Amino acid sequence: MHSYKGRFEPTRFEDLTVTVDFHCHSACRFCIVQEGMNRFKGVPFETFQRAVDDNQKELRYRRVTFTGGEVTLEARLFDYIRHARESGTFEHLRLQTNGRLLADMSFARRLVDAGIDEFFVSLHGHDAETQDYISQRPGSFDQAMRGMENLVSLGVCLMTNTVLTTLNQPHLAQIVETVRRFSPTRMEFWNYLPMEDHADERGLISPLAELGPSLRAALDRAEQLGIETAVKYVPRCVLGSHARAQDNTQPDVVIAEVFYDLYPKFSCLYEAKCEYAETCLGLHHAYIEKLGWEPELLVPYPRSTPWAEPEYGPWVGSDQPGRGSAPATDHPDWARLVAGVAERHGAQLAEVVLQRRACLFRFEQGDGGVDLVVTARSEAGPALARSRSFNVHYRNARGSDTDGLRPLVTDAVAAIVERDQGEMLLDQRKGLVGDQAVRTRPKRSGPPG
Ligand code: SF4
Repeated sequence: MHSYKGRFEPTRFEDLTVTVDFHCHSACRFCIVQEGMNRFKGVPFETFQRAVDDNQKELRYRRVTFTGGEVTLEARLFDYIRHARESGTFEHLRLQTNGRLLADMSFARRLVDAGIDEFFVSLHGHDAETQDYISQRPGSFDQAMRGMENLVSLGVCLMTNTVLTTLNQPHLAQIVETVRRFSPTRMEFWNYLPMEDHADERGLISPLAELGPSLRAALDRAEQLGIETAVKYVPRCVLGSHARAQDNTQPDVVIAEVFYDLYPKFSCLYEAKCEYAETCLGLHHAYIEKLGWEPELLVPYPRSTPWAEPEYGPWVGSDQPGRGSAPATDHPDWARLVAGVAERHGAQLAEVVLQRRACLFRFEQGDGGVDLVVTARSEAGPALARSRSFNVHYRNARGSDTDGLRPLVTDAVAAIVERDQGEMLLDQRKGLVGDQAVRTRPKRSGPPG
C-alpha cells in the first residue's frame, strides 16, 4: 500500500490537455519536458480525434488546452484547434505557450480567429536579463512582452505561469509588477520539479526559507492588484494567508505515458497530523534529499478527523463537470450498476467512490466486506470479467469469512455485465503507451563531418 503522496495523479475532470508536440525554440534551464524533447512524439491527430469524439458522446471536458514543447511551432496546430472548435463541445480553447511567436500580431490574431480564447503564457523573469538567461534565448523576454500586448489588444483571456526556481526566487513580486499592465486573469506559480537532475546539480531547487517569503510577497502584491493566483507544489502551510491559492489539481493529459514515470514523489513529515494532508503534496523527494524535511518551517494544520492512509489515492467528488466538490458517494448512475445486489446477500453498499480511471463499490458484509473495482475496458491484462465498458476486479476482501463473499462478488459482477450498456466512460487517457509515443532517432549514416 502506498500513501497517495507517493503518486502523482491528475485530479480534475473538467480539463483536457493535449501535448501536440515536443519541439521548442527556447531551452529553459529548469524545463521539465526537456528530457522528453526530441524523444517523445506529440499526440497523433487520430488519438486527439477520439478524445474529442468521446466528449461529444458524453460531455466531460469543458476546456481543451494545447501544449508542447512550444505548441505554436507545430504546423498542424490549426488542425487540432479547428477540430476542437467544430466539435462544439468545449467552452474554452486554451493555448499554453512561451508567447514568443505571439509578438507577430498576424499570428496572434490567426490563433484567436481560429478559436483560442485563453492564453497561458510562461514568464519566468521580471526583466529581459533574467528571463533571457533562464530561457537561454536573447530577446525572448521582449518577444513575450510584445506577445502579451497583442493578446490584450485582441481582448482575449490572458494568464501567466511562472516556474519557481533559485533563478527567479528573489524577483517574484517584481514579476507581478511586470505583468500588471496586462491585467492577467490569473497568475500561476509552479514550483520547480526536478525530472532528471534529482541531485539538483544545477542548483534550481529553492529552499523554502527563501522561497516562502518571496512567494508570499508576490501573492500579496497580486492580491492588492486584484489578480487571482494559483500555486502548485508548494506546501500549503508556507503560503500564509494565501493558503487557499494552493491548487495541485491537474487536467487529464494526452501525453506519452512514460512521461509520468519521471514525475517526482512527494512526502510530508506531518502527513498523519495535518488537516490538509489529503490535498497538500508536501515536499518532493529530491527536495527532502537535499534540504531535509523542514520540520521547523512546515506547520501542520490540526486535524479535525482522524487520519487514515488512503487505499486508492484521492477520489473525485463527482463525474459531472462543475460538481467537483459533490459528496463522494453521489453517483446514482454508477450505483445503479449494482443496485439490489447487497440486499440479496445481507450486505450493504457502503460507498461508491469514483475516480477518473476507476469506480469502486465498497460492500460491507458481517464483520468484513470486499471492494469491487471497475476500470476502463481493455483487452490487455487479466480481469475477473469484462463488461461492455469495463474491466471488473475485486480486491481488499476482509473479515473472518472471505470465502463467504464469493456469492456477493459473483452476483455483483453479473449485474455489472448485464446492466452496462457500453455508454459509461472511465478514462484510460492518462497517456499514450507504446511505440507511437516515442520518436525514433534518425540514424547517422557515418561519422559527423
Ligand atoms: S504540514 Fe505538510 S501536509 Fe500540512 S500543509 Fe504543511 S506541507 Fe502540507
